[in-house]
Amino acid sequence: MEDCIFCKIIKKEVPSQIVYEDSQIIAFKDIQPAAPIHILVIPKKHIPSLINLNKEDELLVGQIYTVINKIAEDLKIKEKGFRVIVNCGKDGGQEVEHLHFHLLGGKQLGEKIV
Ligand code: 5GP
Ligand code: ZN
Repeated sequence: MEDCIFCKIIKKEVPSQIVYEDSQIIAFKDIQPAAPIHILVIPKKHIPSLINLNKEDELLVGQIYTVINKIAEDLKIKEKGFRVIVNCGKDGGQEVEHLHFHLLGGKQLGEKIV
């Protein structure tokens, strides 16, 4: 999508601190970190939100979780723990309309609502 900030990051038109990249997935540091480690893991395919996932995306979502595990290991938070968040839609607080998985860690996370 032309005016999507994350698509611009994928195309390297907007700079970011990339921590992982393959043919289908890219992960980079959040510009406004909510924790010492705050990574956004996204599909390169422009999927606006969780509700737009199709049956054909099932493998991709599984691969995203494998990548999250790998990054957690690389950044040495696998043992201590971390949190993965997907905000969806208005009530979910989603601001960027390109599916993204927040990987948060590096401290005891607060504000637990579930
Ligand atoms: P949402 O609120 O949609 O779940 O999360 C969007 C996230 O994207 C926010 O945490 C925000 O800080 C991050 N973000 C927005 N624009 C940029 C950007 O241009 N670069 C990076 N690295 N992160 C961004
Ligand atoms: Zn996009």
